[in-house]
Amino acid sequence: MQGTGGIAEMTVTDGEALAALHRVFGYEAFRGEQEAVVEHVIAGGDAVVLMPTGGGKSLCYQIPALVRPGTGVVVSPLIALMQDQVDALRALGVRAGFMNSTQDFDERRVVEAEFLAGELDLLYLAPERLRLDSTLDLLSRGKISVFAVDEAHCVSQWGHDFRPDYLALSLLGERWPDVPRIALTATATDATHREITDRLRMPEARHFVASFDRPNIQYRIVPKADPRKQLLSFLREEHAGDAGIVYCLSRNSVEKTAEFLSGNGIEAVPYHAGLDAGTRAAHQARFLREEGLVVVATIAFGMGIDKPDVRFVAHLDLPKSVEGYYQETGRAGRDGLPSTAWMAYGLNDVIQQRKLIQSGEGDEAFRRRANQHLDAMLALCETVRCRRGQLLAYFGQEAGPEGCGNCDTCLTPPETWDGTVAAQKVLSTVVRLQRERGQKFGAVQIVDILLGRRTAKVIQFDHDQLSVFGIGEELSEAEWRGVVRQLLAQGLLAVEGEYGTLVLTEASGAVLRREREVPLRKEPKKPAAARGTGGRGERKAKAAAAELPEELQPAFEALRAWRAEQAREQGVPAYVIFHDATLREIATVWPTSVDELGGISGVGEKKLATYGEGVVGVLAGLTRPGDVGTGAGHSGGPDDWPVDEPEPDGWE
Ligand code: ADP
Ligand code: ZN
Repeated sequence: MQGTGGIAEMTVTDGEALAALHRVFGYEAFRGEQEAVVEHVIAGGDAVVLMPTGGGKSLCYQIPALVRPGTGVVVSPLIALMQDQVDALRALGVRAGFMNSTQDFDERRVVEAEFLAGELDLLYLAPERLRLDSTLDLLSRGKISVFAVDEAHCVSQWGHDFRPDYLALSLLGERWPDVPRIALTATATDATHREITDRLRMPEARHFVASFDRPNIQYRIVPKADPRKQLLSFLREEHAGDAGIVYCLSRNSVEKTAEFLSGNGIEAVPYHAGLDAGTRAAHQARFLREEGLVVVATIAFGMGIDKPDVRFVAHLDLPKSVEGYYQETGRAGRDGLPSTAWMAYGLNDVIQQRKLIQSGEGDEAFRRRANQHLDAMLALCETVRCRRGQLLAYFGQEAGPEGCGNCDTCLTPPETWDGTVAAQKVLSTVVRLQRERGQKFGAVQIVDILLGRRTAKVIQFDHDQLSVFGIGEELSEAEWRGVVRQLLAQGLLAVEGEYGTLVLTEASGAVLRREREVPLRKEPKKPAAARGTGGRGERKAKAAAAELPEELQPAFEALRAWRAEQAREQGVPAYVIFHDATLREIATVWPTSVDELGGISGVGEKKLATYGEGVVGVLAGLTRPGDVGTGAGHSGGPDDWPVDEPEPDGWE
């Protein structure tokens, strides 16, 4: 806290902030750190805010912008989303505008005039705009309440989405020393954190770090066998009709996967940098506006997308870092309802990523860092501990010692086995090839030798003459690949050159000399079945808690249909009208008057005025389930009691 205003002043701003939260957003209370951040910024302090995706960063600057005099200027790299963000704010009655390269001259003029006339609460700007003298001049001529730097990790040159334009943001503090600044990001590592503070020159800023746990996301990593088929059954069994994102590494596999899903009855569109801007924009717009579309994308898709009802994020290839994985999976379930982060991962992922790093650009230091990032990601994939615990620990946060109960290793604890002898067999084969033959080979050949297979390539190189030929018949091919993968992940084996040949590392010697044991994770017999019996009950309970009772489904569906019509008329995504979570609450509470509707979370003043009559009208046209039989005890037989109905199918 700063200034001498003291208690009295604080309670005044405090009250105003809460009033704005109720009136504009229709929310009951601040969440977690929001209140402390908002208070601090309203009082004029700088802030660096770390919150997970879906944690509620936007309110941290939107409320101060509403409470402090002047316009809140929001710097965001997400040009394609500005229109939607502004639409959503306007639907709440907030006077918002944006300026970026997608506008024509006239549109920009209107926004400029509104800003100068003090008619904007919030102005969104692309970072490159702030380099222009004309923009700086314009800002100098108006009154600014707060500067918000969104996606602030873009200032980090080590980060995964560095934007050179962000470096220019350091001048904001010099030019507007009296305007508080707030930098926000979902990237949580200490290094990024420090870089944000340095590069944006915010040494005085107070730091707010929220918990990075996203309890509604179920994390699962399955062994990769036939990834597209595995994906298809995952979607069919658990996410039929749901919106979600599938990440692939290459454009080619994005295209193929989207085709494959479409060919199998799941509506899916591709998104990658090779598509022209128009197609990309159209696919993104469809994702935001339609209810159950799947987007198959390279990592270029999704940053800042605030679609709240993304029900799953699937990875068909291994992300390069835990930060990247965490950000991408964080796009699921912003509405707090149960969601899944699912990944298929196998030996080739490890080899491919190691090769990419070796053959990629950058100096030795860069490669070392890239390998460290990959190591952390591999450790997450191979862990026998709670995935969530491992994720949180990576971000320097504590998880409960018990395990989360909502990740695959908690739901179906993996078995471990003593893989020392198996590891020795793999390593000896690599040694023998090199010492006796001066040769290096990739994983396929090593496994064929261990299994004693006389393939064409084995015969061509006389590998059936090696003393290690056929010494590994006790394990299956999949199991051997699992051993090789885990040795790579543990740094006991390395990948070399463009063919991905296997070589020893410094640590391999200790295993060969029997000085080190190698515990390994057991490969599940049937890779596709990720869920064990232990998990089902748990998941069913969690899903049921979030799911509406069946008798309220018709009301929910009627409200959704009404919402879809409103959205179509106005040309905005459905969630701009009301979130699913709000519709659920409406169906549950069943308000019979506009007044009563106002008490529901997510219904602010403007929405109440715009849609109040409509919503109450929808409900008035339906029979409220509880009304059956009330006042006429005899009319309702057991059949009218939906509570007694069996569980809906799908979770058994
Ligand atoms: P982030 O930008 O951190 O990813 P958002 O600001 O988009 O997260 O917020 C995520 C979701 O949570 C949004 O749907 C938002 O409306 C909702 N939300 C944020 N704060 C609150 C609150 N205090 N009460 C209820 N819902 C909230
Ligand atoms: Zn867990």
